[in-house]
Amino acid sequence: CVANGRPQYRRDGSFSGYIGACVDITEQKYMQQQKDDFIGIASHELKTPVTSLKAYTQVLERMLQKKGDVREAEMIGRMDGQLNRLTSLIGDLLDVTKINSGKLQFNNQEFDFNTALEDLLEDLQRTTTKHTIVKKLVPAGLIHGDKERIGQVITNLVTNAIKYSPHSDKIIVYTTINDNELTLCVQDFGIGIAKKNLNKVFEQFYRVSGEMQHTFPGLGLGLYISSEIIKREGGRIWVTSEEGKGSTFCFALPIANRNK
Ligand code: ADP
Repeated sequence: CVANGRPQYRRDGSFSGYIGACVDITEQKYMQQQKDDFIGIASHELKTPVTSLKAYTQVLERMLQKKGDVREAEMIGRMDGQLNRLTSLIGDLLDVTKINSGKLQFNNQEFDFNTALEDLLEDLQRTTTKHTIVKKLVPAGLIHGDKERIGQVITNLVTNAIKYSPHSDKIIVYTTINDNELTLCVQDFGIGIAKKNLNKVFEQFYRVSGEMQHTFPGLGLGLYISSEIIKREGGRIWVTSEEGKGSTFCFALPIANRNK
């Protein structure tokens, strides 16, 4: 039951009681649980056939390349790319169910931040021919955290920067460091986000509506998952943006214990 009461006072100022409404949310909670269960089961069931399809396309691509059927191999390669997209969407759905049920696992340990970041940015650079990822990185040393999960956040921010800046050719990834925080920002020069929508983009399933935005595919989960990961790592995530000019997404992680 969610109570929404206000204290009432007599004329002499003494407290006389509460007036308010109490809403029974048992049904709402049940529906939410049903929704979470459905997403969990559906994404789990989708994962197996997609994984097997991926294995087949990779074998097929190699066979066609060996035979010298370049055009066919290229088509299968594109199919594999689309399967990667599907795998990542299913992964996002599975992560959301894990977050909602408090089961998102973390494997925190020390890792060399810049080495991991450079490797990741190299992979991400390979996903775009249009954009150049410009790096402005300070040496961050060893960081304590889940390398895969933090990598997932960076991938998300850079992938979004690429997706939402179709008419620009540059993305800047920069890091700064102070005594107790490492900050990483991804800046793009794309469509930007209106002020009124800025604080909503980290919500589950939220997608900015509008003529421009509808042309970009997505489920509205990447930033929600990213913000949950950063929160669980003890950090914070935020965005600054100007519509039509571009956006800068940043996160900061605590590094107070890194030399202990
Ligand atoms: P998705 O991109 O799958 O829709 P996200 O959770 O990653 O989901 O992002 C939520 C919404 O925030 C997007 O639908 C988009 O409207 C907006 N957004 C995210 N990143 C950017 C960006 N770099 N530039 C402009 N809009 C963005």
